Amino acid sequence: LFITLEGGEGSGKTTMMQKLADLLDQEGLPYIVTREPGGIRIAEGIRELLLHPDHTEMDIRTEALLYAAARRQHLVEKVEPALEQGTIVLCDRFIDSSLAYQGYARGIGIEEVLSINAFATDGRFPDYTFYLDVEPEVGLARIAAGKGREVNRLDLEALHFHHLVREGYRKVAAMYPERITVVDASQSPEVMAEAVKMQLKPILED
Ligand code: C5P
Ligand code: MG
Repeated sequence: LFITLEGGEGSGKTTMMQKLADLLDQEGLPYIVTREPGGIRIAEGIRELLLHPDHTEMDIRTEALLYAAARRQHLVEKVEPALEQGTIVLCDRFIDSSLAYQGYARGIGIEEVLSINAFATDGRFPDYTFYLDVEPEVGLARIAAGKGREVNRLDLEALHFHHLVREGYRKVAAMYPERITVVDASQSPEVMAEAVKMQLKPILED
């Protein structure tokens, strides 16, 4: 069972991941928690390249290809072997991040980014995806509060981009209604986690 969490900044993915891990502990099911880009050495190296603040000259297609490369290495080295052993994989971000961020928000096109990812993943998709949907204003305010500061000018400049990311995620969720559940992430993490747990329980019992 391959489960992914998706969402913008401050949507509560990290808290949700912890709650899902608690649920699997309670049920006594084997699982691993991992993240993208990263999760294994080579992909963590690619993550450093991608998120380096000095790399402002990075071309958006280069960016999309690096995310796809990190995804492939993580998939073949860590995710697939775990799934083959019957271990549940909980992953923070996967293909839908690329579709929303690079495909839609950066403007490459969802279909184009889907095609390079089809190559990278050999057509492997998660079984279930929870998209934590929240207004970017709320997400950014949560992040600022977490750092004990006010929302600043840089946050506000980023706001337009985060609105595009959200639009992108909503389009992607509509493309895959069977796989992706949209979760109202304006709720408290506790309430949100209960909703997701209720949905997962019958799936885990199969
Ligand atoms: O999930 P996390 O917050 O660690 O993501 C790290 C950063 O990578 C975020 O700032 C996110 O905006 C960015 N990202 C991206 N494109 C992706 C995946 C993540 O721009 N496909
Ligand atoms: Mg996070």
